[in-house]
Amino acid sequence: MNTVCVVGASLAGLLTARALRGQGYTGRLVLVGEEPHRPYDRPPLSKDFLKGAIGEADLALEGDGEELDAEWRLGVAATALDPVARRVILSDGTSVKADGIVIATGASARELPGARSLAGVHTLRTLDDARALRGDLERAGRVVVIGGGFIGAEVAATARDLGLEVTLVESGSAPLAGVLGAAMAETIATLHERRGVRLVRGAYVTELTGDGRVDGVRLADGTHLPADVVVVGIGATPNIAWLEGSGLELGDGVVCDEGGGTSVPGIVAVGDCAAWFDPAQGGHRRIEHWTGARQRAAVVAATLLSGGTARPEPARPAYFWSDQFDIKIQFIGHARDADSVTVEEGDPADHSFLAVYRQGERPVAVLGVNQVRLFTRWRRHLETAPVQAG
Ligand code: FAD
Repeated sequence: MNTVCVVGASLAGLLTARALRGQGYTGRLVLVGEEPHRPYDRPPLSKDFLKGAIGEADLALEGDGEELDAEWRLGVAATALDPVARRVILSDGTSVKADGIVIATGASARELPGARSLAGVHTLRTLDDARALRGDLERAGRVVVIGGGFIGAEVAATARDLGLEVTLVESGSAPLAGVLGAAMAETIATLHERRGVRLVRGAYVTELTGDGRVDGVRLADGTHLPADVVVVGIGATPNIAWLEGSGLELGDGVVCDEGGGTSVPGIVAVGDCAAWFDPAQGGHRRIEHWTGARQRAAVVAATLLSGGTARPEPARPAYFWSDQFDIKIQFIGHARDADSVTVEEGDPADHSFLAVYRQGERPVAVLGVNQVRLFTRWRRHLETAPVQAG
């Protein structure tokens, strides 16, 4: 292999490039990134960076003096892929011909139709988004956050910590209900309410109001929530539109085997844009968590360098963390596989507890809330005895 082109110069792309070098690849390495920035870490964008507790230099993903001996093409997007010629076409009219291609284009924040025409309406995915939101929050009094997923719940917590009046609008029963299940998500709802977030549950947004600048959010029952700033946190979609027509199998992400190999030899995909086959779950799953991208970078590098013959270790159960207020939430596994959940340590009322989700007798997921040490032990246990499909 003489040239490898990595498309997407963020967490998954950088770590795969690093893994390729670590596994002995000495050929030409080209990293293409649509954003003009060097690789940076996204999790702080909704937490310490948004709060102003850390600056942009603290987000850097590259080590001091790290040298990958790579060609960086930043501020340039890949617009198409010719899998037969193994050519990546770029937005500046040039192209990169490569023997191996790594697709690591991540995901984009889903938008509310029409919402962008109003000033004061934000989504949060990139450093530029976070800069703009941070600037607007400094001037705001009232914030409405639409969507109680990770990003929405974290932004609501950060805005509240900044002293703003915050309303969190959630279409389900509680924030994070989709991942934690309704019972445990209730503890997150209580946390937000106790810290002064106004939670509006089971609500649907019909309209953002305002003339030029947003001044509120209208719900399906007619309620009008006044707002100086609105943050839309309604999920993310994989950045795969540029691959349409390439012949690569696409679904909810680039469809991959359990080593990150796509339907075309010599082309692999990793991170938020990729739906890897998960034998334990018996299907393809796209995982939008930091740790998933980190763990899979070495696997996908081995797949590419071995020509697809490397045997990946069994996938570990999905893990994520979320920081809200001064609380660390950690979760591993899949709540939907469970038929029971029990609190085994601490008390949800104190926002310090550990809950184990079981299918019959078998643990299939664990939630830790401010229980880092105990959670770490459970995490190790679940990672060494991987969750099987029921
Ligand atoms: P991305 O980080 O999205 O990077 C993809 C890169 O590819 C981007 O730079 C993009 O511009 C570029 N790109 C896209 N299309 C093209 C193209 N056509 N050509 C060239 N380049 C392209 N996870 C957790 O587990 N815990 C957390 O607390 C947590 N907090 C988060 C907070 C925020 C605000 C966000 C946005 C995410 C958070 N995550 C968290 C998720 C985690 O950051 C992602 O899982 C991780 O960033 C995925 O890395 P990636 O490289 O696959 O994708």
